[in-house]
Amino acid sequence: MIETRRDYYDYTGGETYAAEIVELRPVDGDRTALILDRTVFYPEGGGQPGDRGFINGVPLLDVQEKGGEILHLVSASSSVPLSPGPAELLPDARRRRDFTVSHTAQHLLSGTLLRLTGRPTVSMHLGDEICTIDVDTGENRAPLGSELSAGVLDAVEDAVAAAIEENHPVVIHLCPPEDLKRFPLRKIPPQGEEVIRVVEIEGHDFSPCCGTHVKSTGEIGMLRILGAEKYKGMIRASFIAGRRCLYDSRALRRNADIISRALKVPAAETGRGVLDYMEKSAAVEKRLKELEEWAAAVRAEALVKQAAGLPASGPEGNPPVIVESLSGAGIDEVLRVGRAAQKLTGAVLVLASEKDCKFAAFCGDKGADVRVVVKNAFEAAGGRGGGGPSFFQGSFPSAEALAGFIAAIKGR
Ligand SMILES: [Zn+2]
Repeated sequence: MIETRRDYYDYTGGETYAAEIVELRPVDGDRTALILDRTVFYPEGGGQPGDRGFINGVPLLDVQEKGGEILHLVSASSSVPLSPGPAELLPDARRRRDFTVSHTAQHLLSGTLLRLTGRPTVSMHLGDEICTIDVDTGENRAPLGSELSAGVLDAVEDAVAAAIEENHPVVIHLCPPEDLKRFPLRKIPPQGEEVIRVVEIEGHDFSPCCGTHVKSTGEIGMLRILGAEKYKGMIRASFIAGRRCLYDSRALRRNADIISRALKVPAAETGRGVLDYMEKSAAVEKRLKELEEWAAAVRAEALVKQAAGLPASGPEGNPPVIVESLSGAGIDEVLRVGRAAQKLTGAVLVLASEKDCKFAAFCGDKGADVRVVVKNAFEAAGGRGGGGPSFFQGSFPSAEALAGFIAAIKGR
C-alpha cells in the first residue's frame, strides 16, 4: 500500500502544486489510477464528491480512496504521456470551493434544524446542482408532526442566514476517540480511527467529518432551502448554497422578467399572474368549444340546405354529392361539420381542409357508398387514407393534389 500525504485540507485554490507520481496502475480496463507521494485532490468521502482537475495536463476523471490508498483516476488512453516522476497538480478550484461551501452549509443547516426542530439529519448528498439532507421526522419527534411546514423551513433558513452574517469561525479539532466526550457531537463518530476530525461551527454545530470546509460561516454567503418532501419514511430537504444561490436567483429572475412582461404583472407576482392567466385561458377555451360547435351546426345546416336543392340522385344512382372546401377550417372542424350534417341529409358530403391538405367524405344514407364517389379521383391525385361506405378520409401530398381531387369530383 502506498501512503499519500494528504494536503487537500490546506489547498485554497488557484496555484499548481508539485508532487511525484509513484505508480501508474491500470484499473477496470479503460481507466488508470495514479498514486502520488502527496496530493491536494480530495478523494470522494463523507458525502463529498472527489475533486477534478489536471495532473501534468491530463484531465482527472475522479479521485477515490480504496484500502487507505488515494487513486487519481484518468482515462487509460490519456495516461500514455504520464510516467513515474515529477507531476504538476492543478485542481479545479472553483468546483472544490463550490463543494466546500455546500458541505459547510450542510453542517450549519443540519445543526440549525436539530436545534430548532429536534430533528436529526440521517444522511446527506452533495450533488452537482442540488444538495439534499434526509431528516428523521419520526412521530416521536412531536410536537411538529411528521412534516416540515413552509413556516418551519423559513425559520430554519432565517436562522442559518443569521449565522452566516455573524461569521462564526469553523474550527477543526483533531483528537483521539477517548477525547470526543468533550464535544456535543451531532452524529456518531467513525469507529476504529486513531484520530477523529471534529468540525466545529462555533456556537452552532459539532460534527465528526473528513470533508473540506470553509474557515468561517461568512464564506457560505447564502443558503436556500428549495423544498422538502417525504422520502422513505423521512423528509428529504433540498438546498443550495454560495454561488449556486446567485446563479439560481439570476435564472429565476430572468424567467420572472419574461413572464412579468408577457402578463404585465410585477416580477414578484408572476405565480398569481400565471394562475389568473390559466383560469382566463380555460374560460376562453370553454367558450371557444361552444362557438365551434355552434359554427359547425351553422355550416352543416347550409350544406343540408344546399343538398335539398339538388336532384334526388347522382349519376350512379347514388345520393347527390356536395363538394366543398371549408375556408379556414382545419380537419377537426371539417369532421365536426361533416358529422353534424350527416345526421340531417342523405347526400354524400366531400369536405376538404385546404389548411391541412386533407378531406373527409360522409354519407347518412345507409344504402350508399362514399367510396364509389371518391375512389378514382383520390387515387389519381396520390392521396393516402381509407374508410368504409359511410365515412372515408384521406390526405394529399400538396395543395395542388387536393385541388385536383376536388376538381375531379366536381367534374364527375
Ligand atoms: Zn463536513
